[in-house]
Amino acid sequence: MALEQKVNDFMAKIIAKNPGEAEFHQAVHEVAETIIPYMEENPIYKENKILERIAEPERVILFRVPWLDDKGEIQLNKAYRIEMNSAIGPYKGGLRFHPTVNLGVLKFLAFEQVLKNSLTTLPMGGGKGGSDFDPKGKTDNEVMRFCQSFMTELCRHIGPNTDIPAGDIGVGGREIGFMYGQYKRIRNEFTGVLTGKGREWGGSLIRPEATGYGATYFAEYMLNTRGDSLKGKVVTISGSGNVAQYACEKVTDMGGKVVTLSDSSGFIHDPAGIDAEKLAFVMHLKNVKRGRIKEYADKYNCEFHEGKRPWGIKCDVAMPNATQNEVNEEEAKTLIANGCFVVSEGANMPSAPEAIEVYSKAKILYGLGKAANAGGVAVSGLEMSQNSLRLSWTREEVDSRLKQIMKDIHETCVKYGKEGDYIDYVKGANIGGFVKVADAMLAQGVV
Ligand code: NDP
Repeated sequence: MALEQKVNDFMAKIIAKNPGEAEFHQAVHEVAETIIPYMEENPIYKENKILERIAEPERVILFRVPWLDDKGEIQLNKAYRIEMNSAIGPYKGGLRFHPTVNLGVLKFLAFEQVLKNSLTTLPMGGGKGGSDFDPKGKTDNEVMRFCQSFMTELCRHIGPNTDIPAGDIGVGGREIGFMYGQYKRIRNEFTGVLTGKGREWGGSLIRPEATGYGATYFAEYMLNTRGDSLKGKVVTISGSGNVAQYACEKVTDMGGKVVTLSDSSGFIHDPAGIDAEKLAFVMHLKNVKRGRIKEYADKYNCEFHEGKRPWGIKCDVAMPNATQNEVNEEEAKTLIANGCFVVSEGANMPSAPEAIEVYSKAKILYGLGKAANAGGVAVSGLEMSQNSLRLSWTREEVDSRLKQIMKDIHETCVKYGKEGDYIDYVKGANIGGFVKVADAMLAQGVV
């Protein structure tokens, strides 16, 4: 049977078992396309149904979150925790609070997380969770009441040796603080059950920076394979949240020029570059004032493109750092027609499958999310190590470990993805992540 038919047959079963979960199907399909050929050469994985088992969560927890808004009215949200795979360590992965959250979105994220965590070289299984709660427009007190109610249920399912959530879209330092406070109050224990904690109460230096820094280091390592670097490169970034902010900082530190940032209402284009002072404005705007990116254009007198994404702007390097499926086929073609030859994904699955086809045909340096954005969970892993040791490492120590991990991930991608002069990072990351989890599952028997 032709390989394509095998992938289609496998996907037909996944779709039948998981109806209506489009993002989950997309994520599994991307992996199946590289893993099924690999399993043909290594039949032990096929005989043991490893791919089928990896695509089925070990456990899914679904619960309601009732909370009182400032007017005293009852509000209700849906919440989830997907405990996907614990073959190489306790479940680890973020919590997302966003109105688009549903079971299929979280299963795609949890599935990606399993392979990503394996790539980091650290002993972490994969999970993901969250709620359709939208923190935007809510007061701090409302966010706190939601987080407390959410954790009142979640706390019975997680623990420092079982499942260790972190942040993601809509979950930053404020939300982690409220959830940690409630966990501690109910369980009466001070443990490293969440990562992304504040510095004073168990957080790691460099954790807030880690995903953005890591995706930038990954871009640099990809460029190095062509004897090039970020120095002097024009970079477009989408998003203006945690990942986008620190990617912007690191690109600028490494000599690149960031010319765009965005949020769900549009993007700003600043051809002069977003330097440290302008970035400080963005950080205050987004993290403290919780305002819209348009205010940047008003302040620095540059263009704001309402309702648009930044992929029509000429650049050398693109970093999609907002959300899934934010680069479509047309946008990918435009990027390449404008000379872009590096894509390093801070977000999870930001490029649609058709966009990935375009990158792959053009043979550009394409660092997919599960490799390029693994720095965040890697430093979460380092936060867990520091919590267990009851020590905290310096900024330099954590940053140098992060750099080394990103380098190791890059090398794994090269090892499994090199085809002549070209490095297929999709293949490299998928196989590199899969092998370790698969071997652990083989060793642990039918569980
Ligand atoms: P934040 O909530 O801090 O920021 C998200 C940014 O993306 C905001 O600017 C937001 O704009 C924008 N955004 C979100 N949803 C949409 C949408 N549907 N359309 C357009 N813009 C959107 O999240 P993070 O920076 O933490 O996460 C960004 C991406 O990085 C996600 O894909 C996440 O899974 C991934 N990631 C994050 C990690 C981390 O450590 N935080 C680790 C690994 C991956 P607005 O405010 O208007 O909604």
